[in-house]
Amino acid sequence: MTASQPPEHRPGSEPGRNNLDPHLDRYAARTAGMTASEIRALFAVASRPEVVSLAGGMPNLAALPLDSLSNQMAELIAEDGLTALQYGSAHGVPALREQICEIMAMEGITGHPDDIVVTVGSQMGLDMVTRLFCDPGDVVIAEGPSYVGALGSFAAYQAQVIHVAMDDDGLVPENLREALTQAEKHGKRVKFLYTIPNFHNPAGVTLAVERRAEILEICRQHDVLVVEDNPYGLLGFNGQTYPALRSMDPDNVVYLGSFSKTFASGLRVGWVLAPHAVREKLVLAAESATLCPPTLNQLVVSRYLETHDWKGQIKTFRENYRERRDAMLSALEQHLPEGCTWTRPDGGFYVWVTVPEGVDTKAMLPRAVTARVAYASGTGFYADGFGSRQMRLSYCYPTPERIREGVRRLAGVLESEMDL
Ligand code: PMP
Repeated sequence: MTASQPPEHRPGSEPGRNNLDPHLDRYAARTAGMTASEIRALFAVASRPEVVSLAGGMPNLAALPLDSLSNQMAELIAEDGLTALQYGSAHGVPALREQICEIMAMEGITGHPDDIVVTVGSQMGLDMVTRLFCDPGDVVIAEGPSYVGALGSFAAYQAQVIHVAMDDDGLVPENLREALTQAEKHGKRVKFLYTIPNFHNPAGVTLAVERRAEILEICRQHDVLVVEDNPYGLLGFNGQTYPALRSMDPDNVVYLGSFSKTFASGLRVGWVLAPHAVREKLVLAAESATLCPPTLNQLVVSRYLETHDWKGQIKTFRENYRERRDAMLSALEQHLPEGCTWTRPDGGFYVWVTVPEGVDTKAMLPRAVTARVAYASGTGFYADGFGSRQMRLSYCYPTPERIREGVRRLAGVLESEMDL
């Protein structure tokens, strides 16, 4: 076919869309599950300066010591440039893997540096773990709601997601048991439970410590692996930490960690700590995806941990986020109409709001943007269309004054919606 001929219509392809994308017939079947996330689509609108965005989850990096970081990076290139700018191993820089073990010890984990694979953010860890374990049609159990980027990875590998409801203490063990029993009854292959135990994205709740052993036990009984995603664990507003699931059952938990929220998201450095056999496969998967994670970025993180008061920096982040959380909760209390409820996070970035029956947060969003406030509607956090009465509000990035103004505008939109 020459370039000037119109694309040929093949049986099974959609004639309308063929005109838009001449490559449509070429894509692998699994790309059908790859759709733009509602939340990412929002970013363009929400970043207009007149809009108060309570939508994104961008860390507030203003408190980082940029001058000393810039000196440190220059020193790194001057002293160790030939290593920093060279390929490394898919496994990750050994010194960094040792430091990661010290960090994980703060949540009770005893890991060996050999069992850590450094990743390009924990998002890459999610992608690799799903790639390793999920064939099309396999089931992943996830909290309802769940992290949008994880749902994207599950969809990309054509896994089916079954959501399990939470309450204020996180995942409800009884609901998990029931979901697993039902899935087995219907002949489904459940591959793993994906869970965010601490300061959940988007729900803002934390899994009660008393529930942790029970959840692990249920997964053991049903022969299901646990994937624990913990990017916010050190951001408890009172400095509190919780025992990681990984610390309680090392042989059945794959743990995902990240420097995105405790240091700098743009460096894209995260990690996976996996049972030994899984780790070997992960290194192979990492090699085929990226050859190796960026050496320079790993060395930047490693030097930062060695030379900066990183615990003091995390404390500064926590104080910053606590002030914003307080601003949001008191504004919600003051302005939101009767019938709205919301979670009260003790750490992390997010509040999950439920609005009265009859209000559809997805349909309302364009009207909210016209009123110069943006949020993430709940449906983006479910794989099954649920969540139209929910929304995620992030307090991590805007200043307390902007948060108060944003919530005031949101309350106005909700009130007119409820009058309709
Ligand atoms: N998991 C969760 C629960 C998250 O909230 C995020 C980022 N928003 C990630 C994983 C990905 O983080 P990163 O790739 O930046 O480490």
